[in-house]
Amino acid sequence: MRAIILESVLTCPHCNFAKQEAMPTDACQFFYECGNCRTLPRPNPGDCCVLCSFGSMKCPPIQERRGCCGIGMDAPPHLGKPIFWGEI
Ligand SMILES: [Zn+2]
Repeated sequence: MRAIILESVLTCPHCNFAKQEAMPTDACQFFYECGNCRTLPRPNPGDCCVLCSFGSMKCPPIQERRGCCGIGMDAPPHLGKPIFWGEI
């Protein structure tokens, strides 16, 4: 089994504030509240989550090539409660 990297440096697209964060292994990170400017960047079109859009690493489900919850799977994307940093 390949090692999955669970740390990612997220860079805010609004103010370029970068911060290392731990990534959840079993959920998508659809919202990200920047610790600096407090905006909530959305993922870029075609990306499943903010980790893939703004992080230095793709999210763990993508690293495992099983698809994120919105891509390549039958499950509809991002149902359920959005996860914010700090709740992990
Ligand atoms: Zn910011």
